[in-house]
Amino acid sequence: MAEKFCIFCGKKPEDKNLEHVIPQWLIRLTGRERKDVFVNFPEDHKHINFLNFKFPACTKCNSQYAILEAKVKPILINVLDGKTITGADASLLMDWFDKVRVGLWLTEMYLNPGIKEDVQPHFYIDSRVAKTDRMLSIQRVDMQGKGHGISFIGTNSDLFKYFPSAFTLLINDVYFINAATHNLVSPRLGFPTINKAEFLDPFNGKVLYTMGQGRHKIANPIITTFIPNKDSITFYQPILKEFTIDPLVSNDKYVIEHSYDAQNGLGGVFVQKGNVGNTRYLSQNDKTGTKTKDVSTTVSNMVMDTIKIQKIVHDKSAVKSYETNYIANTYGKILEQYSKTKQH
Ligand SMILES: [Zn+2]
Repeated sequence: MAEKFCIFCGKKPEDKNLEHVIPQWLIRLTGRERKDVFVNFPEDHKHINFLNFKFPACTKCNSQYAILEAKVKPILINVLDGKTITGADASLLMDWFDKVRVGLWLTEMYLNPGIKEDVQPHFYIDSRVAKTDRMLSIQRVDMQGKGHGISFIGTNSDLFKYFPSAFTLLINDVYFINAATHNLVSPRLGFPTINKAEFLDPFNGKVLYTMGQGRHKIANPIITTFIPNKDSITFYQPILKEFTIDPLVSNDKYVIEHSYDAQNGLGGVFVQKGNVGNTRYLSQNDKTGTKTKDVSTTVSNMVMDTIKIQKIVHDKSAVKSYETNYIANTYGKILEQYSKTKQH
């Protein structure tokens, strides 16, 4: 067993507590509390009972995040029911996805201590919630009556070990693709762009970024290499928290007008229905429906979508290495092969 660390702050847990990475209210919602679930479905079919899926945390950290859980619960229920949510709701929901994504990555470190030695995490949940641009694409899948439970895809992939920045979560019959990294959506939402990133110190992950002026208009597709499903609803949020001292960010009128908290670099949420244009800004109180048509898809399609978004996040990242380039190239070949078999 690896040395114990708080999954929120990364320090030795103060008055030890345990955090459920997948919250109990969500497990109850899917009627799965007495059943095992697939972790890293479908590659290794490792069964874990979600109620035992809990990891060390400080009491203080745990209660701070309990506030987020309480706020997100009704929002997620609305999304699962296809009801309306606001821009502010979508922003909180993406905070929660940041938390779950990084939480699942850290739990991989706990479950496989070998990975931790390999990767050496520089960050914990605290340092990754609402820190970079992010995207959440939602679609409903025709599960042919089998749509109960929670599965996650991509959290044990080789690239995820180095870039825990994209994964897929399936809750009942709703399928969420989530990704977060710098420059993911800012440039094509009209926000300032990172033009250059230099890796200063590979041992603490420090990077020097040079910003460029934003274009002040939306250009579809928002992520050039990722086209959402035609029956999906996708949220995009630029976040420039680390760059607010740059006048290109702090003095930009377009940024201020399209932010929820411009001073702290929290951009506003933009929403897109389907995949042809139509991306629009949602103010904090603006509402959007979340109902989408059921699409029929397969597990292999979902896995391929996840591999694709993980490769996109890697390719956009400033901090690639020989190993990660190698893995990303392999992903490219898998995707090419898959699209060929689909055409036949
Ligand atoms: Zn802590």
